[in-house]
Amino acid sequence: MKIILLYGGQSAEHDISVISAHNIAQQIMYNYYDVQPIFIRRDGVWIKGAPLTEAPSTSGELILEAAEIAQWSQKADTASTGIVIQPGSIYEEDTIVFPALHGPNGEDGTIQGFLEVLNMPYVGAGVTASAAGMDKTISKYIFSQVGIPQVPFEAFDRQAWLNSKDELINKCEGSLLYPMFVKPANMGSSVGISKVENVEELANAVELALKYDFRIVVEQGINADEVEVAILGNADAHVSVVGKLVKEQSFYDYDNKYLNNSVSMQIPAELPEAVAEKIQEYALLAYRAIDGRGLSRCDFFVTANNDIYINEINTMPGFTPYSMYPVLWQGTGLGTRDLVEELIQLGLRHFEAKK
Ligand code: ADP
Ligand code: MG
Ligand code: MG
Repeated sequence: MKIILLYGGQSAEHDISVISAHNIAQQIMYNYYDVQPIFIRRDGVWIKGAPLTEAPSTSGELILEAAEIAQWSQKADTASTGIVIQPGSIYEEDTIVFPALHGPNGEDGTIQGFLEVLNMPYVGAGVTASAAGMDKTISKYIFSQVGIPQVPFEAFDRQAWLNSKDELINKCEGSLLYPMFVKPANMGSSVGISKVENVEELANAVELALKYDFRIVVEQGINADEVEVAILGNADAHVSVVGKLVKEQSFYDYDNKYLNNSVSMQIPAELPEAVAEKIQEYALLAYRAIDGRGLSRCDFFVTANNDIYINEINTMPGFTPYSMYPVLWQGTGLGTRDLVEELIQLGLRHFEAKK
């Protein structure tokens, strides 16, 4: 059987995707599978690389330089040793696609819809869950519908902002306390997100977030720990232990997430058992509510009083050797090699089941 490993992509999480895909490529069982890496350049061009019949060798350290990434992928952003292909030409029988892509155009249902149209099996969430999970406004409406607590928020779009800035600012200040978090609805890796302390910052942050999406969420900031749960499975999904981010900064932004290495993980999180169980229960509830499949990582805030608020669900969470998703499964007794194999089997099983 062949696995097409799709990685890179046009989102702000391009580099993370490359490292995730490298980690996945290292864990695939090559006695069962060949791997066809397909690199999506930042400009959207698809490049078919040399097939892998064994694990790529570089160390998998946090390599963010295009030249170093090219060591395993053999494809830098501009020059390439691979072949430029049309996306539709990837169709093949007995092939499953592993879209190791994060963020818009990868984790948001677009690639998933494209693979549905090609009638190819793929790893992970389908169209609905991907689109709903990526959209912070839609996911908030879904979470509230199924009764998962979340911080107070306001949601609006660009047109509303252009029509009545003052009214929207009044509305935010009427229902939310500073600090607030301003977020584009469709993004990831903290891109376009600001923490704001006053009305000037609020207005500037909305303008910034509107550069990334037409729709915006403004949330009440909360002083809390951030904890995360990994989910694995289709209809029979199960959850990992809860892990906590141990942070030096209060805002887990892109640089702190990926570049400064200023975050470590406490697995399992030191929490009363009932609190951890409640978090796991909410994670599964969120997963089912968005029609989750394959995998997701569900993120929460937990206050000093042990109040729990859902933050978001990520349907293709980071999969680098240091990412919470595979590390949570290691902490639950499932190694990354078995995890990758299970994800492939879940994708194949779903494809068979829907025939
Ligand atoms: P992304 O999808 O980009 O990861 P998040 O909604 O998870 O976006 O926000 C990124 C980070 O910003 C969170 O991990 C957290 O550190 C901080 N943050 C976001 N919303 C809030 C909030 N309401 N209160 C406190 N911190 C927040
Ligand atoms: Mg996210
Ligand atoms: Mg997040």
